[in-house]
Order: sequence, then structure tokens, then C-alpha cells
Amino acid sequence: MTDEDRRARSASHYTQMSPTPGLTAVVELAAQVTGCPVAMINVIDGAYQYTIAAHGISAGLVVPLRLSGCASVVAGNAPIVIADAADRTDDSTLITLMHEVGFRAYAGIPLLGREGLPVASLCVIDQDPHSERAIDVAALARCAILAGDALDSARSQGAHFGTTGLINAEPHDNAVSTIEIGVREVATAVANDEIVPWYMPIIDLETGDLTAVEALARWLHPTLGVLPPGAFVPLIENTDLIIDFDLAMLARALDDLRRWRTTDTDAADVKVAVNMSAHHFYRPDCADRIDKVATAAGIAAESIVLEITETVAVPTTALINSRVINDLQERGYIVVFDDIGGPWLPAEHLLSFGVNGLKADRAVGSSLHTPTGRAIARALTALTDELGQFLVIEGIESAEQAHHARVIGARFGQGFYWSAAQPAHAFSTFRLIGRPG
Ligand code: C2E
Ligand code: CA
Ligand code: CA
Repeated sequence: MTDEDRRARSASHYTQMSPTPGLTAVVELAAQVTGCPVAMINVIDGAYQYTIAAHGISAGLVVPLRLSGCASVVAGNAPIVIADAADRTDDSTLITLMHEVGFRAYAGIPLLGREGLPVASLCVIDQDPHSERAIDVAALARCAILAGDALDSARSQGAHFGTTGLINAEPHDNAVSTIEIGVREVATAVANDEIVPWYMPIIDLETGDLTAVEALARWLHPTLGVLPPGAFVPLIENTDLIIDFDLAMLARALDDLRRWRTTDTDAADVKVAVNMSAHHFYRPDCADRIDKVATAAGIAAESIVLEITETVAVPTTALINSRVINDLQERGYIVVFDDIGGPWLPAEHLLSFGVNGLKADRAVGSSLHTPTGRAIARALTALTDELGQFLVIEGIESAEQAHHARVIGARFGQGFYWSAAQPAHAFSTFRLIGRPG
């Protein structure tokens, strides 16, 4: 066994850990003593970085090593402190990543596992530089001593994540092996074409025209029937599989659009909206990957709406790179934030990214018959108008709600009032359903 194998094996005892009170307290403290908004404990195995405790963002994120800043700290078994990445021109993995993701300051201290090998890093990061108010590394190192103790006691307590579906884990208890099977089953189902997009119409509220269809994944399960995405997307959402999954749904949706366009002249102007996990938008090759799928299908970027979406409570949006969003928009894609007003999108993200449109959380549409629902819808309409964006209100279930959405001045509507999600062959009926009710 190589040293690296031994190290990765030791790390595997920590990759599945849930944030215990001790781990959570220590990252909070680390953020406080260094004045950085984000602090994390990242475990590094042979392939992934696992954020097992975090302050400022949520724990549970799993990213490949090439997107890991802490991998350098663990590999070198030595602290790394960067006061301002802008001053640095070397092309180490960490500096390159910081330039890509837009973080200016970083400090990481290695943490040893019970086997005495470095398995993790306690790190702090900031989007602002720390050249003037230097990071207190001695204080961070003291936090790292506490973090080492907290890691060890979490290992003794057997604190594990239950449902996040981490991949590549050694199945060392039943819960983990069940999750593993779940993730693999999803991968196999995608490969076997069992998971396909169904479509929901998006209506121009002023004209009643069909403007787009949203692709929503459905698993046509051989024994369990039609499974909604809530049954399988959360399993894969924090694994690398979500990337290929979303791109597979995009490819299928664009194939369907091409087919509709050959049989239905009215389909020429209809767009396809796809749900893309926030995980896509911090990867520098995001636009290239999407372009590849669009080019293969022969569909122009201008016909494709990318809904930045997230179903589990892990705000990966904190990592979204505005350069990736700009790149996509320059190539012609229409970028939308999904679920505005829902649980996961703080105002600071609205402030940081120039998207083309906002999609109100389903709760907004389904409460348009109430004064509060209308007040929220009016506020979102004003916000998007002022920003030069469009607003989609989904979750509209009645003629009354559709009427209010129109009067309030929202541009687009979607919901069971027009249609629930339907298989691709239902497209021809979508064009007929949008007339004002
Ligand atoms: P979402 O993007 O917010 O999609 C809208 C969900 O609300 C859909 O549920 C849709 O059927 C439902 N909905 C829309 N209008 C109404 C209404 O008037 N009444 C009611 N009761 N429900 C309405 P669905 O299809 O179960 O999708 C759930 C979530 O799964 C989606 O939420 C999206 O976040 C995620 N998802 C679906 N497909 C994909 C995919 O291909 N990739 C990723 N990453 N996520 C996906
Ligand atoms: Ca959506
Ligand atoms: Ca939504």
C-alpha cells in the first residue's frame, strides 16, 4: 500500500461524518477569530473533498479534488496562508482555483486523523483580501487543535450523514451501502433511458402564447411506476453524477425540441427550460459542456433557458462563479434563478449575479389569491422590471391566480392551471391551452 493509499484509507473514516456540535462550534470560532465569513473542515480522500462542517455555507458538499483548495494543505501536511490571491502569479492548484472562484484570502491548517496522517484541513476563506488585517494564523492553529479533538470524538460517536448520497465511500455500514445502491441505480437508469424529461408549458401571460416548456425529470421505473425527481435528484445532487445527469436531461430535451420543430411549425420560437444544479456554475468548463450538447442537437443557445436550481438544503450557490454566468450569457443562453423566495437563495446572490430572469418559488403562484401573495408578486415584478429581467410565476393552479399574475404584470406563468408535466408527445396540445381564462 502506498503512503497516499494509507492516507486515503484513514480519511475514509471521516468522509461520511455529519457536523457534530463540536465540529460546528469550532468552525464558527475559526471564522470569528480570523474575521473570515466562511470556515470549513474539509476531508480529503483519494478523489474528493468532503465538507463535513461549515460556517457561512452549509456542510455536505462534495467536490472533486481539482476544485479543492484544501487538498494542497493536506498533501503538503503544512499550513497555507494567502492574504491576497491577486498578488500571486504562481499557478499552484490553490491559487488557480482562487482566481477562478473569486476568493482573495485563504488560510488552511492540516488536521491529523487517528492514524496520525493528514486527512483534513480547517480552513477559512474570504472574497475580500486580508492584506491589511492579516489572518491570525496562531489563533486558527489553536482552533485546529480543537478541530482535531472534535474529529476524533465524532469518529468515536460514529456520526454519519444519513441521506446525502456521497459516492465512492467504502460501505462500512448499512445506511451507506443503501445510499450507494441508490446512486448507482440512478446512474444505471439514466444510461438505460429510464429517466426522461416530461414537460410543463410556460405561458406568455399577455398574449397567451406558449413561450417555453420546462423539462422535469421523471423516472419511468419498471416496477414502481413514474417517480418524481424528489425521489432521486436529492440522492445525486451532491455527487459528481448530477453534472452528467443534468446534461443527459438537456440532451434529451433538445432532441425533443428538434423533433417538435420538424413536425410543428409553431414550435420554431418555443424555448426549452432545463434545471441545472448550482454545481455546474462554479466549474470553468460549464459553458463548453453545455455548448457541446447544444451543438450536437443543432439547437441555438438562444432557445435554451438554464434554471439554476437546487432541491437539497446545501447552498452551493455560494460557490457560483459570476464569470461562468457571464460566459453563458455571452454565448446566448438565457440564465434564470429558480425558486426565488424559496428556502435557499439569499439576497446577496441576487446582488452578485446578473441573470436574465427570476422564477418565483411555487409558493408565490399558489398564494396569488391572497393579499400577501400578491404583494410578494408585485415586489418581484418591480424588482425584475428595474433590473431589466423577466419574471416567471409558477405554481399557478386557478384562473383567478392566472388573472392576478397577469394584472400584476408578471411576464410569464406556469402551473397546473395550464398543465401538469406531460410526456414529450403532449407538446401539440400545449400550444392550445394558454388563451386568457
Ligand atoms: P422546480 O424546478 O421548482 O420545478 C417545479 C416543480 O413544481 C415541478 O415538480 C412541478 O411539477 C411543480 N409544479 C409546477 N406548477 C405547479 C402547480 O401549479 N401546483 C403544484 N402542486 N405543483 C406545481 P417536480 O417535477 O416534482 O420537480 C421538482 C424539482 O425537481 C424541480 O423543482 C427541480 O428543482 C428538480 N428537478 C427536476 N428535474 C430536474 C433535472 O433534470 N435536474 C435537476 N438538477 N433538478 C431537477
Ligand atoms: Ca425549475
Ligand atoms: Ca421552481
